[in-house]
Amino acid sequence: MIKRILCQIASICLVLLMFNGCSNLIENSENIRTSIDAHSSTVYAMDTVMELTVYGSEDILEKSENLIYELESEFSAMDTESDIYNVNHNGGGVVSSDTGELLKLALSLCERSEGALDISIYPVVQAWGFTSGENRIPSETELKELLQLVDYKAVRVDDNNNVTLVPGMEIDLGSVAKGYTGNRLVELLSENGVTNAVLNLGGNVHVIGTKPDGEAWRVAVTDPVGGGYAGMVEVVDKAVITSGGYERFFEQDGVRYHHIIDPTTGYPANNDFLSVTVVGSNGAVCDALSTALFVMGPDRATEFWKESNDFEAVFITSEGICITEGLEDVFSPLGDYQNKQVTVLYRD
Ligand code: AMP
Ligand code: MG
Repeated sequence: MIKRILCQIASICLVLLMFNGCSNLIENSENIRTSIDAHSSTVYAMDTVMELTVYGSEDILEKSENLIYELESEFSAMDTESDIYNVNHNGGGVVSSDTGELLKLALSLCERSEGALDISIYPVVQAWGFTSGENRIPSETELKELLQLVDYKAVRVDDNNNVTLVPGMEIDLGSVAKGYTGNRLVELLSENGVTNAVLNLGGNVHVIGTKPDGEAWRVAVTDPVGGGYAGMVEVVDKAVITSGGYERFFEQDGVRYHHIIDPTTGYPANNDFLSVTVVGSNGAVCDALSTALFVMGPDRATEFWKESNDFEAVFITSEGICITEGLEDVFSPLGDYQNKQVTVLYRD
């Protein structure tokens, strides 16, 4: 009930929030809504506003909303009934098949990113107050102590989805949950015959097919400094997912502290990246990688991309925009960025 009321408030606020997200639809949302077969729904879940626009049967929207609420109730680290809360407070436990699948995927990406992504960073994120909203700067000693518990390699998930943590460890799927939820929604919609849809999960955009007119969807990438748009990508059947320090932060004594933590230091990742947008077919992988690449910084992230073949990226630094070669024909700079150089990274 509370969620439904929040949804109504959220619909009113959506127009404003569309300009605050990370990657956003650039299509005029009014046009989408008034198009003959388009059905839209706004959901408040996973600490964000989600807008689903589907071409086809309206009935599928309710199933989609229920799927989002179901996954949220399993993945949330705060909900006392959730799988993750249970695991964190009992040192382990059996989780649902979705939680088990997402955990295994997340752990494989922790490994692939050599720990830039680490789902056991949660106690450190809590110490900075990003879960409670009571932000503070933890002491060096506190961070050092908490970092001793951070080690994704110590998280075990067996074939029966039985999870085991070492004592004191806590995990969090915040870096991957929306991407996985997008994947599951795409699956549900596709199974139900939907061939054109756009799902904006708090700025993480997943598109199915093309726009109904056959054109690619145009998804904007937020300017991490000015708040407008830095550019847009034209995509079909893809997820476009952004991580950036501008999304959640606090300032103290003129210094900005954001929510993406470097597991080697316990401090917010501190490199030249202002944001990283990852474009690919698997939303959970894109979500994990946008967080991981943001932690790695430009040099390591570029090398990582060169060694990979499952994603493209838009890197924004104070110098400007860098895109990977697969986006060369589908990326266009917008606003102030039209006057700056866009560098293209090639695999050589
Ligand atoms: P995202 O917005 O997908 O980049 O995810 C950021 C969220 O993931 C943060 O709000 C934290 O809850 C969590 N997080 C922060 N740093 C890390 C990290 N290095 N590895 C995994 N999760 C992280
Ligand atoms: Mg992420």
